[in-house]
Amino acid sequence: MQQSTPPRFAVTSPATGEELRSFEGHGPADIERALAGAASAFPAWAERSFEERAAVLRGVAAALRERKDELARQMTDEMGKLRSEGLAEVEKCAHGCEYYATYAAAMLADEPVPFDDGVEAFVTHNPLGAVLAVMPWNFPLWQAIRAAAPALMAGNVMLLKHASNVPGSAIALEELFRDAGAPPGVFTTLLIRSDPVAGIIADRRVAGVTLTGSVAAGRSVASAAGQALKPCVLELGGSDPYIVLEDADIAVAADILTRARMLNAGQSCIAGKRFIALRPVVEALEVALTDRFRALTPGDPHDPSSKLGPMVSVEARDELHGQVERSVAAGARCLVGGAVPDRPGAWYPATLLARVEPGMAAFDEETFGPVGALIVADDESHAIQLANESEFGLGGGVLTPDIDRGRRIAARRVQSGMVVVNTNVRSDPRLPFGGVKASGIGRELSVQGIRAFVNIKSVEVRPHRA
Ligand code: NAP
Repeated sequence: MQQSTPPRFAVTSPATGEELRSFEGHGPADIERALAGAASAFPAWAERSFEERAAVLRGVAAALRERKDELARQMTDEMGKLRSEGLAEVEKCAHGCEYYATYAAAMLADEPVPFDDGVEAFVTHNPLGAVLAVMPWNFPLWQAIRAAAPALMAGNVMLLKHASNVPGSAIALEELFRDAGAPPGVFTTLLIRSDPVAGIIADRRVAGVTLTGSVAAGRSVASAAGQALKPCVLELGGSDPYIVLEDADIAVAADILTRARMLNAGQSCIAGKRFIALRPVVEALEVALTDRFRALTPGDPHDPSSKLGPMVSVEARDELHGQVERSVAAGARCLVGGAVPDRPGAWYPATLLARVEPGMAAFDEETFGPVGALIVADDESHAIQLANESEFGLGGGVLTPDIDRGRRIAARRVQSGMVVVNTNVRSDPRLPFGGVKASGIGRELSVQGIRAFVNIKSVEVRPHRA
């Protein structure tokens, strides 16, 4: 069930291919200690008031801001994120902690239910226990914080199994909670690979699991949670469609699409991956996007002025390049990029594929890197059909100056968990985050996120008489 010797976790710079440092991981005895620690921390943490738990979360926010430079540098070292994006991510984490510190009590307040005369009825929310968070490398701090802030404010405790290539960020997360006054066992990082995960989910001291990652990992974690009959939240892949209607301003659309695609070197679940343009605007959009993509020259991710960093790893880069090659072989036209540069590290240029169609890799599969796919639609209903012709349903967008039309398509027609009009999809603690179809199960953030790991309990109180 569990690995017998502790694994080692090496940090390889995506920018240079050099090994920068390595960490000794946790073995079976450490896992057992963490489970026992979480179980013994839970009752007292659950008994604390919202104000007491909020004080810890506010402390985490302050520590994040104090350590902003160092935490951003570490993310750049570990997974190649641009420094500017790393600094913004740290700030976003601080805000996420403060958001739940402020609103958790109201989100979980008892809800009276009008009932029979003389009978008191209400819904209350009790924490469940230890939640295992299995997290990906692409937003090393934000993914973990957006799971932890609501779970901890609800009175749960958390065990973090982070992606194997971001061990430094994983350790920093535990330090942030500890230094902010979280008692031992309230937030624990486990430096482990994925093999012990199913055993941890099955352990009676674990109450639920949340995973952000690939569809394959989602299936595996969902099976383990199903077997153990424990709640799970899954945030998986996406191939977000952006519909560009015939009345869209091309410069506005091209700016939004470039931003939607290129954040985090295109390695975001909610990146815009399929740009579905109505025929009358296709040519102009090809030109506008080609200009913008060409301007994104790859540069040192530590340099604050760089606009496009490396991908996470040479393996991920080669997989993406394979998707580009297969799409071109199937008839797509590569307008810019599309060639692996001759330099060490996981570099790939901003790449634009045009005339992409269903049946091509760039349409059917998730492309996790800086590759945009332009797809031609005959009219609005064809565009909607193409948008929905995907195994995924995470985010999506509609670009049009006709707000009523955009709202209708976004709200009623696109089969995704999050659809925006005239902007790009972002996670925001005020709105539920998650997808349908193979993009996942359940929601993070907002009220729905904090209620993912609580016992929604009905209470009925009657006078003591026959
Ligand atoms: P991944 O390989 O699935 O890894 C994610 C996490 O799951 C890592 O901690 C990984 O551990 C672990 N893991 C992998 N296989 C597992 C298994 N069989 N059982 C238990 N745990 C397992 O995903 P990735 O390639 O790092 O991340 C990219 C994917 O995440 C993309 O598909 C992206 O769309 C998705 N994503 C989704 C969201 C969202 O909110 N919907 C957000 C960000 C990313 P190891 O590192 O040790 O393998």
